[in-house]
Amino acid sequence: MAAAAAEASAAPVAAAMRAVLARAGRAAERSGRAAEAVRVVAIGKTKPVSLLRQLYDAGHRSFGENYVQEFVTKAPQLPEDIRWHFVGHLQSNKVKSLLAAVPNLDMVEGVGNEKIANHLDRAVVSLGREPLKVMVQVNTSGEESKSGIDPSKCVELAKHVKLACPNLILSGLMTIGMKDYSSTPENFKALVNCKLEVCKALGIPTEQFELSMGMSGDFEQAIELGSTNVRVGSTIFGPREYPNQKQN
Ligand SMILES: *Cc1c(COP(=O)(O)O)cnc(C)c1O
Repeated sequence: MAAAAAEASAAPVAAAMRAVLARAGRAAERSGRAAEAVRVVAIGKTKPVSLLRQLYDAGHRSFGENYVQEFVTKAPQLPEDIRWHFVGHLQSNKVKSLLAAVPNLDMVEGVGNEKIANHLDRAVVSLGREPLKVMVQVNTSGEESKSGIDPSKCVELAKHVKLACPNLILSGLMTIGMKDYSSTPENFKALVNCKLEVCKALGIPTEQFELSMGMSGDFEQAIELGSTNVRVGSTIFGPREYPNQKQN
């Protein structure tokens, strides 16, 4: 096993991934959990399929994308046993093309309002696919540029997904939070509070409810605070290059 992994290290992305997995595993252990309790989703936005393929060949299976247009072109070029996550803001008019193009879409991390939940719910039915896992996106930093529901309304939206969207599986909560605020983890703590409220209101055991928080700059802190799903892009694939756009 170790020897096979060492051979796969020829690819720089595979080596970077192993380093991230090791750091994530140690952070999980510091929080009293097993390394396997935390999923690392490799966010490949702006990166070519060939690079993602190298990571797949090294054994990684959890991938995520953030732009629908890019996602629907890349996903069909990669193997079907990838567990894809859509992360971030999703427009309702793109829901159908996303679900149609990515049958192996495992989770949508970014249900920020009832409208998008309803669109997803209906699209699952009309495409005849199995129920889709979703996370409610919470805007914990209050920044206008970030989508997601206000923390004070997270229970309401979670309730809507769980009770009014029979084709969606409410898997947890997701947040982006302020960029690199590792010294002041208020946003992550706010998401932990939302989780406790939602679990209490809906009678969900806390260990069965996920938290998606933590990116390249802060995934270890997020794991220490209870994250079960971290979304790591640039630390694995290198800095993103946007043609004419600022990074988000
Ligand atoms: C791009 C993106 C990430 C990954 O960001 P890095 O800082 O490169 O790790 C995570 N989550 C969302 C929603 C993103 O759009």
